[in-house]
Amino acid sequence: MSRSGSTPPAPPDPQREIRRLSAQIHTLTAEAQHNEAVLKHFHEREFTLLGTEKLPRLLEELTRGLRRSFALEAVTLILHDPDHELRHLLPHTGSPPGAHPDIRLLDRLDTLNPILGRLRRPLLGPYLGEDHAGLFNTGHEVRSIALLPLLRHDLLVGSLNLGSRDPRRFTSRHASDFLHHLATIGAICLENIANRERLVLAGLTDPLTSLHNRAYLESRLQEEIEAARRYGHPLSCLFADIDHFKRVNDQHGHDTGDQVLRETALRIKGCLRASDIATRYGGEEFALLLPQTGPAEALQLARRIRHAIAATPIPSGHGRQLDITLSIGVGSLSESMQTPQEQLLQQADQALYRAKRQGRNRVEGTT
Ligand code: GH3
Ligand code: MG
Ligand code: MG
Repeated sequence: MSRSGSTPPAPPDPQREIRRLSAQIHTLTAEAQHNEAVLKHFHEREFTLLGTEKLPRLLEELTRGLRRSFALEAVTLILHDPDHELRHLLPHTGSPPGAHPDIRLLDRLDTLNPILGRLRRPLLGPYLGEDHAGLFNTGHEVRSIALLPLLRHDLLVGSLNLGSRDPRRFTSRHASDFLHHLATIGAICLENIANRERLVLAGLTDPLTSLHNRAYLESRLQEEIEAARRYGHPLSCLFADIDHFKRVNDQHGHDTGDQVLRETALRIKGCLRASDIATRYGGEEFALLLPQTGPAEALQLARRIRHAIAATPIPSGHGRQLDITLSIGVGSLSESMQTPQEQLLQQADQALYRAKRQGRNRVEGTT
């Protein structure tokens, strides 16, 4: 008998209780399995990023790779590039212009969108046209977004922006730890790979003229010869040497000499196609490798370069104008070359020697 006198509550139906508990266990198990799958997916993406060796590939993985893998409508990467360093680096890493439409490199992040100035934690929620202007390319139907800060040593270096068509995909109620971690891994990989590419480039670039150096030419020569032989394309090489350059140094000083070297390099580059390889081979000598260029075309180009230097005096920086000339030798790959890597350069060098002997400021081809 109950002390209060009221009807005691009915004892719980054990069968119902078991059903309720097993439904709860089922939900929890499904959630755990889902979380495990999500975690595994994130780990896979992170391993891919960590295993990437080249900058263009990493940029591709961070944008198109994530978009595919997470079935998103759009992924963009916005990076702070105040000194245009990444912009200079990219073409040297084998990335053609326009190869990364989902990436923006900016002098300042907050000029694109003020949100980027304050981004310190992932920001998840609906896509609000005006408020999120500039973060995604036009033409994508984005309904919810996750803006992930790329932080290095507490400094914002950019943002990785995920956009979904599904308005419920990213909401402020969603946990964002996995996303934050992924973005951090992305930021670390970017820093590491950019550093590595920078070092490689420094080792292959002439600091005075910003042309490539002799080591780079030698590394490319083999590749270009193989490609030319495989596809039956012509390949030519020019050796250009400034005439009486010693006199420039002697009469006007070393700094003026350097200025002449820089200007000569610039004018040579101005005559070339994007696929031509221009190097400062040493001192006042430039070697140019011209893929898909036969002897006649190479001679024409050499004449244009000779003219580009001789026709306009070079300002010395002290109000003086210096008349500078170049002698150029042309060599072209031929079937009969047994050791083309040496013979191609030798041929151009011998032609240069003839140009010097025959009075300088002239172009000589193969005899
Ligand atoms: P030629 O017409 O026969 O080629 O005569 P040249 O005087 O140009 O050739 P030479 O080889 O006698 O002299 C090359 C000079 O280039 C000597 C060297 O001091 C100078 N030189 C090499 N590297 C640099 C550089 O980085 N800066 C400056 N200012 N001069 C350099
Ligand atoms: Mg010289
Ligand atoms: Mg020389």
